[in-house]
Amino acid sequence: MIDIHTHVGRIVTDYPPLTPRTLLRRMDRLGIEKAVVLPIENPEEVHYCVPTSDVLRVCRRHPDRLIPFCVTDPRHGVRSDFDVKEVLKRYVDQGCRGFGEYLAGLAVDDPRSLRVYEACQELRLPVLMHLDSYINWDRVGFPGFQRVLKAFPDVPFIAHGPGWWAQISADATDEMAYPPEGASPYVKGPVVPGGPVEKLLASYPNLYADLSAQSAYNALSRDPGYAASLLERFQDKILFGTDYLYPRQPLPIVRFLRDLPISEIARAKILRDNAVRLLGL
Ligand SMILES: [Zn+2]
Repeated sequence: MIDIHTHVGRIVTDYPPLTPRTLLRRMDRLGIEKAVVLPIENPEEVHYCVPTSDVLRVCRRHPDRLIPFCVTDPRHGVRSDFDVKEVLKRYVDQGCRGFGEYLAGLAVDDPRSLRVYEACQELRLPVLMHLDSYINWDRVGFPGFQRVLKAFPDVPFIAHGPGWWAQISADATDEMAYPPEGASPYVKGPVVPGGPVEKLLASYPNLYADLSAQSAYNALSRDPGYAASLLERFQDKILFGTDYLYPRQPLPIVRFLRDLPISEIARAKILRDNAVRLLGL
């Protein structure tokens, strides 16, 4: 198995930091061969940033197990001449294989984020992004995200988060996908087929999704029958991930994916082969 979505270090005040040792031990216990480690440099979602330099340092000590991604925030600098590509190029030269986790508190198609995606297109980096009410926000049906997907057809985008997964169902509303503060982003009940998630996965060859965090587990487990059909149909575009953030975090997605009645070919692609292909491992 390859986990496309993990973190290290301290991210929020509520949880102790996750050491590389704890991450590797959990990977060993779950049978995860390699993991992508995602830095966080956008302030909105977290209480502490985990810079790309920290992730590179950790991954350099375990090159056979940990794969570094890089990230930056296009709002750095008071003028508009911050050269995102220059910064990312240095990280790529040091071994980073993708961009993310992108957690900027901007609209999904904000011009500043478009500059980031343009740099990623030139550097051939996949982009792993979180979508919710505050981060890369949009409207139901993803009009903004679709503009991004069309504008950068050579960038593989890996979508994740409540704003993405709430739209698994065709009856999703703006209120469900982008709830106000205090309201749960985890929608319950059977999925109405034909939702924005499957429409976009079918329409955009450069779109992928990861199965990390409570958002993906909630979306799949609310209707396991629909989940099996979604994963079977989009077996080339869905990637296993955990969003492992703190020691002893429950990771119910691992057992869920082992037990889900899908073909063994689809399961192998989702658990491992898609990541190998996408990251050129
Ligand atoms: Zn994450």
